[in-house]
Amino acid sequence: MKRSEKIQMIVAAMLGWFSQNARDLPWRRTQDPYAIWVSEIMLQQTQVKTVLPFWERWMCELPTIEAVAKATPDKIHKLWEGLGYYTRVRNLQKAARQITEKRKAESGNKSEFPNKFDEVLALPGIGRYTAGAICSIAFNQPTPILDGNVMRVLTRIFGIDKDPREKGTNERLWELAGELVFNAKTQSAQRRNKGNSCSYLNQSLMELGALVCTPRNPQCLICPVKKLCVAFKENRTEELPNLGKREAATARRFVAFVLEHQGKFLIRQRPEKVVNAHLWEFPNVELNGQALTPAEVFKSEFGFVPPELEPLPPVKHSITRYRITLEAFRVSLKRAPKMGQGMWLSHAEMSSLAFTSAHRKILSGLNNGLI
Ligand code: SF4
Repeated sequence: MKRSEKIQMIVAAMLGWFSQNARDLPWRRTQDPYAIWVSEIMLQQTQVKTVLPFWERWMCELPTIEAVAKATPDKIHKLWEGLGYYTRVRNLQKAARQITEKRKAESGNKSEFPNKFDEVLALPGIGRYTAGAICSIAFNQPTPILDGNVMRVLTRIFGIDKDPREKGTNERLWELAGELVFNAKTQSAQRRNKGNSCSYLNQSLMELGALVCTPRNPQCLICPVKKLCVAFKENRTEELPNLGKREAATARRFVAFVLEHQGKFLIRQRPEKVVNAHLWEFPNVELNGQALTPAEVFKSEFGFVPPELEPLPPVKHSITRYRITLEAFRVSLKRAPKMGQGMWLSHAEMSSLAFTSAHRKILSGLNNGLI
């Protein structure tokens, strides 16, 4: 079969499948580029079911680009709290401010999201994938997308056995994604159909990767393109995509102190330009393999011997390739020591601030009276 014929058949099968199987997601009920942009940024590295409540809350609190541009850093971080990768939300606000400023300079009343691919791509926090997704979904333009899901679907359908992250192979996959979405536009024009074929084709590839062509145990028997799929025909679905060996996880250990004085707790804000910048946390120290007792760590951090360290349930979590263990201790103080950094706040005051997810778990324990 010729490649052009195969492309055409894949597009027809995917559009038919998507029309029957697309999940009803709130950002699919709108064509507002702002709402779609927010969903695409939240969906980077994050699953749909996690994003749903965050997106609903964000759109309710900040329904326009102007509202994002004007929001305080505390507000946007609080709305993003728990989604992780906080650079995303800071870039979202930078981009909203750029759009608003540009509009003001052009004396426009309303901040409109740009509809040209290059202008979208130039905004902070928007790469080739996100620009393609926004332009295809919001404006039905034939702009390709290639994320982890689409990469998996395409390497399997076309039987591509080289590492898809390797430059040449990656570019080949972008070309295939481009041919597919362009073909969707052509087929739709031939039928004089003014529908959303580019939008639906791109979303169908993401949806197939999320629901059917999953990393493990893909459901090939119900797949709309199984007759066209090389990996299925050659029984190579478990081999593809060829992502090479995973880097081994690195263990990291932290000790945190929940210092309490007259119903207030000491917390600190993470500085700019570090992971989780702007978020709040309890004072903590990374041990970096040092064999120190918690009391020794406390003394070196605060300059005095703690009265008593009450162990709290340890928090374990993973970020990228790090496996992190946070051992936390409560310390009740009769007098507040003089400390340069941080603020003493009550439960209620802390609840309105955005914490890193590990420290949010400690805080939830305090708020629920479990600690
Ligand atoms: Fe993926 Fe199987 Fe469909 Fe091929 S046939 S695209 S491997 S689900």
